[in-house]
Amino acid sequence: MDTTPPDTTRPRLHVSGRDEDSPPALAQAVSTGSLPNTERVAGLMQDALDRYRTLDDGAVADYIPSLGTADPALFGLAIVAVTGDAHAVGDSDHLFSIQSISKAFVFALVCEALGHDSVWRTIGVNNTGLPFNSVIAVELNGGRPMNPMVNAGALATTALVPGDSPSTRWAFVRDGLSAFAGRTLEMDPEVYASESAANQRNQAIARLLQSYGHLTGDPLEVTDVYTMQCSLLVSADDLAVMAATLANGGVNPVTGRRVVSEEVCADTLAVMATTGLYEMSGEWLFEVGMPGKSGVSGGIITIAPGKGGLATFSPRLDGAGNSVRGQSATRFLSKALGLNLFASRPVA
Ligand code: GLU
Repeated sequence: MDTTPPDTTRPRLHVSGRDEDSPPALAQAVSTGSLPNTERVAGLMQDALDRYRTLDDGAVADYIPSLGTADPALFGLAIVAVTGDAHAVGDSDHLFSIQSISKAFVFALVCEALGHDSVWRTIGVNNTGLPFNSVIAVELNGGRPMNPMVNAGALATTALVPGDSPSTRWAFVRDGLSAFAGRTLEMDPEVYASESAANQRNQAIARLLQSYGHLTGDPLEVTDVYTMQCSLLVSADDLAVMAATLANGGVNPVTGRRVVSEEVCADTLAVMATTGLYEMSGEWLFEVGMPGKSGVSGGIITIAPGKGGLATFSPRLDGAGNSVRGQSATRFLSKALGLNLFASRPVA
């Protein structure tokens, strides 16, 4: 059990530590119902693709030079139900680097390995309200990484990955993300080389966290494993399986393999709901009503707990780094498929 004393300088909600005071089960905490029937899902996916495929707002990210070569016309959607049923339209099998979406899954794997309270104390779960690569967010918060979905928190999370060398820690990350996807994921060497040559800012954030005592291990090694995790190649089809694993209490609905616990899924989805779409997370929750996570290569995953996982891919991004077509398509599908977690009807 983690014996680190609670941090009394940081304001937080008054809840008792769950590791010590666990409720018996989360069995009744999943949302109810299932996805509409196959024909309706397939029809609405095609409808979403057709509605937004001509939306040309936004720009492809190029601060990592190799991302700038992506074809802005690419657009794919995939959905995987907790039953394992899958539907996909457009460029759903196109491979791209997972980037920030890896943060959600590495966080889940680290929570699984170290426990809820330890990760909460070390990383935090509150939104910074600032861009994903903000240095000022660290300074404004006493050197704390704040949450695992921005770069500072993701670097601090990757630093917690168990293993006695960078290669064993990398193997933990790659094997874990592959288990979520249900196939062995490969790193894109070109994206890795391109980001490694351009990630001085992430190296600086890791060093800054270290200077405050909030990053364990060597900052450059941690940044390197983080850069490798961001360079793993996935498709929207893969991401939908990964998202569906989080929707299915941690069991991959395609392979049947348990990847993380039900409790870890709930923790991960809570953090995604408040921080998954960078500083636009509040608007995302307002419009979509589900936890999501986006990445600067153009992917977005969205989870309907107990129902399934949705993934979108389109490289044009808004100013915060979220795919423009992906946001519109997800908002449309959330309404059309009845996925908003906050929607209710009065009892008869
Ligand atoms: N590897 C990217 C970075 O660190 C991930 C950013 C993102 O997708 O938000 O800048």
